[in-house]
Amino acid sequence: MRDAQAGWHIMIIEDEPSLAAIIQDYLTQAGMTSEILHEGHRAVETILKRKPDLVILDVMLPGMDGLSICREVRAKSDVPIILETARVEELDRLLGLELGADDYVCKPFSPRELVARVKAILRRQAKVQAAASGVLADAEASRDAANAAGQDGLWLDEERWSVTYNGQDLALTRREFQLLAILYKRPGRVFSRAQLVELAFSDDADVFDRVIDTHIKNIRTKLRKQASGVDVIRSVYGVGYAYEEPDT
Ligand code: CA
Repeated sequence: MRDAQAGWHIMIIEDEPSLAAIIQDYLTQAGMTSEILHEGHRAVETILKRKPDLVILDVMLPGMDGLSICREVRAKSDVPIILETARVEELDRLLGLELGADDYVCKPFSPRELVARVKAILRRQAKVQAAASGVLADAEASRDAANAAGQDGLWLDEERWSVTYNGQDLALTRREFQLLAILYKRPGRVFSRAQLVELAFSDDADVFDRVIDTHIKNIRTKLRKQASGVDVIRSVYGVGYAYEEPDT
């Protein structure tokens, strides 16, 4: 298990040199290393060859656009990808394209916020790896492994249909569990209400987008009681919801 963010290597694919440099500065301050590509032409092969821990990818690039790069990389690699889009209106379209990106930021974005998203995705991935390495042990042991790695907090066990926060059961309903599980498995990734209906309630034709809001509200209430105000679900205005790793 890696110690916090030390050793994480990020690839920044951004054609605006000043923006790329700012992102790199913030990543460096957070203890991560990074490299910059200023165009899309050889991006896919460079990512596959260099194997960064995460890719920050601009949509509008000379050479090859970010969407094509995202698709091609995703066909061959699970490396987390954060897409930078030029406008918030573009986000809906991108979400509909199912590109397999893990998160999206809209320009102009705060570099601090971007680094927080990078950390959330990488921490979550480390947690999943910790759980996978203890997959034959029981849930308690997996949780201990995660705790030992400094990743105490929310824990969702699909085998047992249980969600705990610092070991305390949240007692979610089946629907609430299904919904949270979808968000939890792709931290940072923004899901639209329509996507959540499709993924969590495909067996029920009578579910409307509004129902998602109600379930999310109930999950938040239960979590707030158990975890003194911690919220792990981020509302994305006009789009939907995403899971955010709580700071522990
Ligand atoms: Ca650009």
